[in-house]
Amino acid sequence: MRLVLLGPPGSGKGTQAKWLKARYGIAHLSTGEMLRASISEDGELAREIRLLMESGELVPDDLVVRMIEEKITRPECEKGFVLDGCPRTLVQAETLDQMLSDKNMGLNLVIEMTVDPDEVIRRISGRFSCMSCGASYHVTFNKPLSDDRCDYCGHTEFEKRSDDSEETVRRRLDSYWSKTATLVSYYRHKALLQSVDSMKPVNTVSLEIGRLISNYIG
Ligand code: ADP
Ligand code: AMP
Repeated sequence: MRLVLLGPPGSGKGTQAKWLKARYGIAHLSTGEMLRASISEDGELAREIRLLMESGELVPDDLVVRMIEEKITRPECEKGFVLDGCPRTLVQAETLDQMLSDKNMGLNLVIEMTVDPDEVIRRISGRFSCMSCGASYHVTFNKPLSDDRCDYCGHTEFEKRSDDSEETVRRRLDSYWSKTATLVSYYRHKALLQSVDSMKPVNTVSLEIGRLISNYIG
C-alpha cells in the first residue's frame, strides 16, 4: 500500500499517518520530521534548511524527493508507506511520480484531508509532540490516553514545534494554498484522489481512511 496524505498544515496528516503505521505496519515517511532531524546537525546546508523552515518557507524540491527515494527501498517500507508532507509542489509531484514509476512502485491512493482554515489555527496552536517518536497531540482535542506518556512509544517528554507560531503558520498556510492545493486536481486527473472530512474527531477520520484503503490491504 503506497499512499499520500494531502492537506494543509494542521489537517491531521501526521496523526493519521502514525495510526496507519501502527494499524497496518506501513512506514510513515514525513519529510517535515526528516528535515527536523537533519537540522540538528552542523553545517551550511542544515543552517539554510533551518532558516527556511523557521520562516515557513519550503525547502528545495529535489532535496525532499531524494530523502524519500533514499527511504522507500528500506525493509520498513516492505508493506508500503504513507507520505506525509510530500509532495508540496507540482514539481515534487512529477518528480516523485517519475521516481516511483522507475522503481515500479507507483502510488495506489491519495487522500485529501479537508478542514476549515479557522480549525487549522486552533489545532496548530494547541499542538505538542512526543520528543522521541514525533507523535502529535493536542491540549484539548487529542490528548495522550495517559496524561504524561506517549500512546505510541511510552516516552514522557513532549515539545512544541518552533515553527508553530501564529505568524509562521499563516505563511505555511499561504504556501499550501498557492503551491500545494493544485495537487488535488493533479491527482484527481490521475484517478488516485479520495477525500475525507478531517473536521470529524480523530477516530472517525481514522475509520474513514481505513475504509478507503481496505480495497488495497487484505
Ligand atoms: P499535520 O500533520 O497535518 O500538520 P497533525 O496531525 O500534527 O497535522 O495535527 C495537528 C493538530 O491537530 C495536532 O495537535 C493534533 O493532535 C490535532 N488533530 C489532528 N486530527 C484532529 C482531529 N480530527 N480533530 C481534532 N484535532 C485533531
Ligand atoms: P511539516 O512537518 O510537514 O509541517 O513540515 C514542516 C516544514 O518542513 C515546512 O514548513 C517546510 O519548511 C519543510 N518541508 C516539509 N516537507 C516539505 C516538502 N515536501 N517540500 C518543501 N518543504 C518541506
